[in-house]
Amino acid sequence: MKHYSAFAVAREALRYHTGWERAWRSPEPKKRYDVIIIGAGGHGLATAYYLGKNYGIQNVAVIEKGWLGGGNTGRNTTIIRSNYLQDPSAAIYEKARGLYEDLSQDLNYNIMFSPRGVIMLAQTQHEIRGYQRTAHANALQGVKTEWIGPERVKELVPIINLDGPRYPVLGGLWQERGGTARHDAVAWGYARACSAMGMDIIQQCEVTGVRSQDGRVVGVDTTKGAIDCDKLGIVVAGHSGQLAEMAGFRLPLEAVALQALVSEPIKPCMDVVVMANTVHGYMSQSDKGEMVIGGGTDGFNNFTQRGSFHHIEETVRALVETFPMISRLKMLRQWGGIVDMTGDRSPILSKTPLGGCFINCGWGTGGFKAIPGSGWGMAQLMATGHSPLTEAFSLDRFKEGRFIDESVAAGVAH
Ligand SMILES: Cc1cc2nc3c(=O)[nH]c(=O)nc-3n(C[C@H](O)[C@H](O)[C@H](O)COP(=O)(O)OP(=O)(O)OC[C@H]3O[C@@H](n4cnc5c(N)ncnc54)[C@H](O)[C@@H]3O)c2cc1C
Repeated sequence: MKHYSAFAVAREALRYHTGWERAWRSPEPKKRYDVIIIGAGGHGLATAYYLGKNYGIQNVAVIEKGWLGGGNTGRNTTIIRSNYLQDPSAAIYEKARGLYEDLSQDLNYNIMFSPRGVIMLAQTQHEIRGYQRTAHANALQGVKTEWIGPERVKELVPIINLDGPRYPVLGGLWQERGGTARHDAVAWGYARACSAMGMDIIQQCEVTGVRSQDGRVVGVDTTKGAIDCDKLGIVVAGHSGQLAEMAGFRLPLEAVALQALVSEPIKPCMDVVVMANTVHGYMSQSDKGEMVIGGGTDGFNNFTQRGSFHHIEETVRALVETFPMISRLKMLRQWGGIVDMTGDRSPILSKTPLGGCFINCGWGTGGFKAIPGSGWGMAQLMATGHSPLTEAFSLDRFKEGRFIDESVAAGVAH
């Protein structure tokens, strides 16, 4: 793999950009791999990358039914933060946030990490108590967040309306090193690095069955034929229930559509990410100038990558009261993704009842921010059978009642 650098950009500019290599290969599948990962979203690709980088396991295939990054990874609003309440969550999200800080250097690919800061607005007394509690918990966990009053919110976001018609802004939970990154670039950067290690990323190839023998996984059936493996990672977000069924177990998950929209590009007007969870909308400004707006999940299970129309109205109404200037903006695009929600709003990173088969899912509305930490922990779990980062997120917790309740941090917020 040729190194990307300022020198390479200058060299290619001089020869009309004829010397760039394809960022990753598109091979036909081999008969057998040590590890197969199903799903070339951020979590699947990051798992493959850290298997290779941290454990030297490079005979790996990542199998994707569509195009890489075309699932939720390429559809999300890219908020990165780690101010969760419970210790295991803070640990994995903070690990991820820390890895994001120099992921561009690690992957030699500009993922455009922008630690511009994230505010979660408190608009009710209940939210003030919830966020102050989170700020105290984060202080004990070594995660840098702080509670700020309404004047500081106004300083950080001059376009905000503190005296909304329904709910005033009473303060907020502020994480200064939270922010955003370019979602496609995260998937592309990991894919390029995996391909450079000799791993095969096989796109347009759907897994249609999981094969097992004596209680252990031995391979998968795909639209490009059967492929054998020693270990299997299922990392397919909203389609986890279907893959689990193929592997012979059930998951405590619901699949629902979550949607987002972007406006026409405008001049820079907001340089932090703001989430207003009571009125239910959140917004940031992309580098192109578009206002990136996220809403809520549909209240019923579905697989439409669109979402229902009334949510657009609700979300825009919420944001117009919080940022009146957006009432004059035209909206350009709207889309949805299928998110996988657990009852305690925490993910599942776990061994499964099928030997050699592992699952990573349940990130719901908030897994983009976790990609590097999740990949790191999942690779450790798959390579060694144990990871301190993933231990609390095992499937057993639902049988044993060890819930990791993140309904304040992740029930609505992303
Ligand atoms: C509108 C929206 C906004 C969001 N905003 C945020 C946010 O601001 N911050 C945040 O942290 N998170 C956010 N999220 C959540 C985040 O996008 C997801 O948690 C994360 O991207 C999940 O990544 P993944 O790799 O697990 O799944 P995906 O990116 O969905 O990848 C799974 C892949 O598996 C493939 N697949 C499925 N079935 C098969 C099969 N049978 N065979 C082969 N391949 C298969 C799919 O095609 C897909 O590419 C948002 C999500 C949405 C939809």
